[in-house]
Amino acid sequence: MPFKPGGCSPRAVGACRGEELLVGPRESTGENETMRGAIVTGGSRGIGRAIALELGRLGYAVVVNFVRQADAGHDVADQINAAGGMALAVQGDVGAADDRTRLVRAALERFGRLDLLVNNAGITSLGRKDLLEATEEGWDRVFATNLKGPFFLAQLAANEMIRLIRAKTIPNGKIINVSSISGYAVSTNRADYCMTKAAMGTMTVLLAQRLAEEGIGVFEVCPGVIESDMTAPVKEKYDRLIAEGLWPIRRWGQPEDVARAVAAIVLDYFPFSTGQRIDVDGGFHIRTL
Ligand code: NAP
Repeated sequence: MPFKPGGCSPRAVGACRGEELLVGPRESTGENETMRGAIVTGGSRGIGRAIALELGRLGYAVVVNFVRQADAGHDVADQINAAGGMALAVQGDVGAADDRTRLVRAALERFGRLDLLVNNAGITSLGRKDLLEATEEGWDRVFATNLKGPFFLAQLAANEMIRLIRAKTIPNGKIINVSSISGYAVSTNRADYCMTKAAMGTMTVLLAQRLAEEGIGVFEVCPGVIESDMTAPVKEKYDRLIAEGLWPIRRWGQPEDVARAVAAIVLDYFPFSTGQRIDVDGGFHIRTL
């Protein structure tokens, strides 16, 4: 019987019984003795860093991807390893095909398996220019990093997961795409960013529809405004807007808020869901009159 995403197969990781959800990092899951393998793109800083550390705590062996900040990437991997987990920092630009291949190969060669891809790496609009001034060069960079890279990395990872599921090396797979409230709330000085994040929603449901029969669940995690290097330049603006109540939970989102949503997905707290968008935004998505 083919495994359905999130189903409670006895081989499923973090399966449905409460006590199994509490299984610690290196206890046997009964499926095989190796740790589950994950890739977190942009795992060196901000949201990706919190996700990588959370996955390390949950017993995943983690490829911590970075593009430029090697120290930050190695620091995250070192923290996971120091806590008794398994991680390696791997440089790679998600917009480059060879680098994407290298990321997947690193997980397979070091961990022997790939159970989870978190498409987190992303950049904001270069120069945050008004859309009447936006350049093709900026568009190409943003689209390569935020959309083309995640799509083709998901394709690569999914094909490997399908192979591993059929070989019974892994029980199922998961792909989590980190989008943004900018996918539906427009900023006219970040047109390319908004468009890539909107498209990530479509990408998620496309992948979810195709991959369910293969045993791979696909989710979109949609953060609101989260405190990170990306939002540091607009900190004062959001301090003010938060105080004025732009979203009902009046605080900055933290990277750990997003990591917890990812944890809930990988622990199979959504066993009958796929293609789902999970908002982590303090309630920003609520429309009021
Ligand atoms: P951040 O603090 O700027 O960190 C960006 C991360 O992505 C870094 O680890 C960076 O690596 C990596 N990265 C950038 N370009 C890359 C590339 N071409 N290939 C591989 N890695 C690359 O960003 P963040 O705030 O954590 O955001 C993470 C994700 O959440 C993004 O997709 C962003 O759009 C989304 N998001 C953020 C917010 C927010 O308010 N912060 C809200 C909604 C959605 P290096 O360290 O090597 O530079």
